[in-house]
Amino acid sequence: MTGILPLRTGIGYDSHRFAPGGPLVLGGVRIPGDVHLHGHSDGDAIAHAVTDAVLGAASLGDIGAMFSDRDAANAGRDSIEMLALAVARVRTAGWRVGQLDVVVIAERPTIAPHRDAMRARIASALGVPLEDVSIKGKTNEGMGFVGRGEGIACLATATIVRA
Ligand code: MG
Repeated sequence: MTGILPLRTGIGYDSHRFAPGGPLVLGGVRIPGDVHLHGHSDGDAIAHAVTDAVLGAASLGDIGAMFSDRDAANAGRDSIEMLALAVARVRTAGWRVGQLDVVVIAERPTIAPHRDAMRARIASALGVPLEDVSIKGKTNEGMGFVGRGEGIACLATATIVRA
């Protein structure tokens, strides 16, 4: 095991554009509506940012290196499943996830009604209690690509501790 700290943090970021046709998959939750997030996988920007935060905390690269968008096996793939595999890799490296905080920046959908369902799915993939997963929604006050409703951005930080 490398490194001197018993506890480390990682940061993740992702963005995806909206495309016509629902449902939207976000935080592992299917949200009915007339748009989805375009992507090689299911486009789940929250799951992708969380995956990068967890991998980053352990210095294990990023989601793109672990799950290539040129691999047909990843087409339309459940991003929560990919997150669970990333967590398994982090665990193999001698760490366990301690805690997660997420900011979703989107004009729509409103996060609050889906927050606890998202927390439950992500907590399950991380192997932590619901209380250790925080998800917060923000709008971008009408500014930029998020403000124009073209897509969603997401930031995540994860803490890992030595197993
Ligand atoms: Mg992504």
